[in-house]
Amino acid sequence: MNAPNAAGWRPAMGVAGETRSATSSGDYGLMLEEALSFELGSADKCGVDLEKTRREPASGLTRFLRKAAPALPGLTEPETVRHYTRLSRQNYAIDLGPFPLGSCTMKHNPRLNEKMARLPGFADVHPLQPQKTVEGALEVIEQLADWLITLTGMASVAMSPKAGAHGELCGLLCIRAALDARGETRDIVLVPESAHGTNPATAAFAGFKVESIPATPAGRVDVEALKAKLGPNVAGVMITNPNTCGLFEPDMHEIADAVHAAGGYVYCDGANFNAIVGKVRPGDLGVDAMHINLHKTFSTPHGGGGPGAGPVVLSEALAPFAPLPFVTRGADGCIHLVEEENRGEGHDQAFGRMVAFHGQMGMFTRALTYILSHGADGLRQVAEDAVLNANYVLRSCEDLLPAPFADSGPCMHEALFSDAGLAEGFSTLDIAKGLIDEGFHPMTVYFPLVVKGAMLVEPTETESKAGLDRFIASLRSLAERAKGGDESLHSAPYYAPRRRLDETLAARKPILVWQGNPTESGTPSLSEIGGS
Ligand SMILES: *Cc1c(COP(=O)(O)O)cnc(C)c1O
Repeated sequence: MNAPNAAGWRPAMGVAGETRSATSSGDYGLMLEEALSFELGSADKCGVDLEKTRREPASGLTRFLRKAAPALPGLTEPETVRHYTRLSRQNYAIDLGPFPLGSCTMKHNPRLNEKMARLPGFADVHPLQPQKTVEGALEVIEQLADWLITLTGMASVAMSPKAGAHGELCGLLCIRAALDARGETRDIVLVPESAHGTNPATAAFAGFKVESIPATPAGRVDVEALKAKLGPNVAGVMITNPNTCGLFEPDMHEIADAVHAAGGYVYCDGANFNAIVGKVRPGDLGVDAMHINLHKTFSTPHGGGGPGAGPVVLSEALAPFAPLPFVTRGADGCIHLVEEENRGEGHDQAFGRMVAFHGQMGMFTRALTYILSHGADGLRQVAEDAVLNANYVLRSCEDLLPAPFADSGPCMHEALFSDAGLAEGFSTLDIAKGLIDEGFHPMTVYFPLVVKGAMLVEPTETESKAGLDRFIASLRSLAERAKGGDESLHSAPYYAPRRRLDETLAARKPILVWQGNPTESGTPSLSEIGGS
């Protein structure tokens, strides 16, 4: 096999000898290396012809005039297109192959959703347009809201939060507002050990103290331990159901009753709704607030962190505190937009706003398209197939990779394994990096924290049996290599654009800003922007 070149590339085809002319670009075959745009461009180039502005700014604004040209890279249009296309080829995507990241629900994004979202009436609306010019768009928001309420059995939904974690914040702010209205200052939120990191982070961000609830050996919330912690200072609990061990929490009723009896509220992390959509209504389980990640259950693109949507469904008890603006259908059958100035209609206790406007039209349109094209029966099948696929992976690999909770019955939509039983010195990381060489995005690793060396595999319902069989064959072969002590696995990946990174260094000393030559380009250095 050829040695990687200076940039870390290793040619996939392992040719004997050098059969290409030496270039300094780092390109090999169709595997293309790429520099930073700042290194490629120069300040005197521009992708478009811009006229020099002739208008003087209004007098009060002259102090904002730039004194020097901005330190932008300056690329032509073809250079810009190639730059981003080359970068995109170094990445992996759900459109390239399976993406079994547990908890993330990386499923296929149907193209019908894209077609609908691109209709000019949805794609080109502006949040400040007069309401009468965007009634169709508001109708989409209201119809989606209605479906989310129906599917979850809840009283109301706040549509504006932008992601799951933002929805968590919205839910906890509703809880805080409800407590304020009761004149109570409870400051503790209980969070199970297996929770996603966003849960305790959100609770802390919202000003609550976080107390952890242990898990039972069967991977569920320890109900007795939870009950023992309830009291006059507990604002509520945040419980993920199905939980992050891939298991349904069967004691949800009992938990909700106990929390309510103690004067608290139940927040449910709804990120795993994909496993139960159309089968279970969280409202029937006593939940007061739950975010729905439209990019998980309802197949909108995950989109590199945004633009996203994480609507929060609310119980009767919390609905009055939902943030504005709020799209609702009035008794007259017409859509109403509730804002600060007309906050009657059951919204006079709204805690404020999460964002400037209603939410993400593009995501709403995609999610509603997904729901309408599946119908209630289709959504139920989504959940059933997602669970079936995960159990197929679980049962196909559990003889090689220990599945800590497999004895407690079938899993929900994720299969959880541990790295116990691999040869000395081999761990989950080796399996994950090995998967990259096999052409798969790795599964979620080292999460949930309650399982040592966790591997959380979520195949989703959009993988075929043949696709699952290929993934299972790769996972099994890697497990066998790691059990057999195959040293070569320690250096995987061999065939990715970058070889194995120094994870400790990457976490401890991340270089997040290109420093270049600050005096020459005017680009701020790390120390100038407050980093270190
Ligand atoms: C994805 C996820 C979140 C956070 O949702 P975002 O939309 O990424 O902010 C929270 N909890 C769980 C269990 C998740 O899987």
